[in-house]
Amino acid sequence: MFLEQFPTEGRQNGWIEVVCGSMFSGKTEELIRRLRRAQFANQKLLLFKPLVDNRYHEENVVSHQGTTLKAQAVENAAEILTIWTNERVVAIDEAQFFDDGVVEVANTLAKKGVRVILAGLDMDYLGVPFGPMPKILCIAEYVTKVHAICVSCGNLAQFSHRTAEEKDQVLVGATEKYMPLCRSCYNKTAH
Ligand code: ZN
Repeated sequence: MFLEQFPTEGRQNGWIEVVCGSMFSGKTEELIRRLRRAQFANQKLLLFKPLVDNRYHEENVVSHQGTTLKAQAVENAAEILTIWTNERVVAIDEAQFFDDGVVEVANTLAKKGVRVILAGLDMDYLGVPFGPMPKILCIAEYVTKVHAICVSCGNLAQFSHRTAEEKDQVLVGATEKYMPLCRSCYNKTAH
């Protein structure tokens, strides 16, 4: 399990953490776990998500297990800097849907001493790196890749196989449209 390494008392260093993985790997649950602990310690935090992801509820980041935390939906990454004032923790869920500007936003906040936590899909349903995620992974101090369990064979899964017919890269949905598969089972599918 990821354990934060807080800076020595008196110093406030910013840093960037990433939680990435496939669908059903527990990314959002992990993000929420980190935020809840910060919240319990009375650290001021902001949670953002892109406007594109409006499943379940507009205002909340909702994991598949039903744990919720209030999130602000923003149209682009730059908007995050206009909302931030002095919060110590800034989290961004579904980071793969943001523009490349999210990289600069994360760097800017970390430079100001903020702990930045991003969660997102590392690959799209074709197994291709998703949006700004490769760059985000490069600039982060801490990267956690979480895995789902392959529904076909029970091995660790890292691919989000799309069971629906649609071909757009962005197709928001849960169980009815995707299933987690390991590399071997994914390679046996037509995708
Ligand atoms: Zn498998």
